[in-house]
Amino acid sequence: MRLSCPVCDNSAGLEAASDVRDMTVRGESYKVKVEYHRCPKCGEEFVDSSQHDPFKEAYELYRSQHSMLRPEEIRAFRRRYQLTQAELASILGLGGATLSRYETGKLQDETHDTLLRLAMTPANLHDLIAASDALPAARREHLLAAVEQDCDCVSPMERYFRLGVARQEPDEFTGFRRFATDRFVNAILLFAQDGVLKTKLNKLLFYADFLHFRDFAVSITGARYARIPFGPAPEDYDLFFALLVKQQSLTVEEVQFIGFAGGPDVTGERYIAATPSNHSIFSEAELETLLFVKRYFRDYGAHRISECSHEEEGYVRTGPGEWISYEHTSSLRLGRTVPQGQSQ
Ligand SMILES: [Zn+2]
Repeated sequence: MRLSCPVCDNSAGLEAASDVRDMTVRGESYKVKVEYHRCPKCGEEFVDSSQHDPFKEAYELYRSQHSMLRPEEIRAFRRRYQLTQAELASILGLGGATLSRYETGKLQDETHDTLLRLAMTPANLHDLIAASDALPAARREHLLAAVEQDCDCVSPMERYFRLGVARQEPDEFTGFRRFATDRFVNAILLFAQDGVLKTKLNKLLFYADFLHFRDFAVSITGARYARIPFGPAPEDYDLFFALLVKQQSLTVEEVQFIGFAGGPDVTGERYIAATPSNHSIFSEAELETLLFVKRYFRDYGAHRISECSHEEEGYVRTGPGEWISYEHTSSLRLGRTVPQGQSQ
């Protein structure tokens, strides 16, 4: 486009000139070389901002003076972790346009600069992505994997939960639901609210999932349950409990059972929820099932609920170590009336 004077619209004989001027950025003065044009017709001096933006240069000086991030650094950081502008903006709680302007030279707010710097630490970025519910689950996993290459912020155990178990396809062994870590964890916290023995906890989870499947044709957590000698137990339950203890969501105490009838003393683990269960992730019907199972077995000890579970069709008809199909629910003795028209 042909350059013309903004005052008189003259485009003939414009003279290019430059000199050093003081420019003020956030109350501080910076000397910047300004290139401008002079109109021979009216005498106006003007800057062609499409070619040269003296403010950009003043901002650069300001950033350097205040050790703030440069636009190239922000862009390089974002690209390193394969984030789009919209994604990084949403993870940080910034507007998409704001981040875009920072990457193209606008001077960032002090607080946004601090925020971006914090996010540039892989462990922090990892937590921010993990906590972001604006991202679709599959995309979040992909981004987390990219960050994890740069940090040891995730234990192999946690990675396994997120990437290994969560990708299992729904089928008759998951109760036709994709395994959902947050559902499983919050069911555990609900049952462990007042303390629960590990063996009993495993049975409570089994009964809640299977009962819900019987009445609504879908499980609550999507967990698979294996037939083990003490009854049905959810897949990798020991790892989950250990992770929750490590995260301080559960506390654990060892309890002693004095041997009776000459038998040996037995120790067991008792879990107590250290954080409240988030009920809001369950539907009304799911929550009702969980509370029903908890109430039903309230006075059952670990031994009694184990015996009870040993008589269930799913347990009887499944080989040792095998997954129990959710289709086996005909023997569940937990009678209850499901309100008509209630959805899953
Ligand atoms: Zn002019």
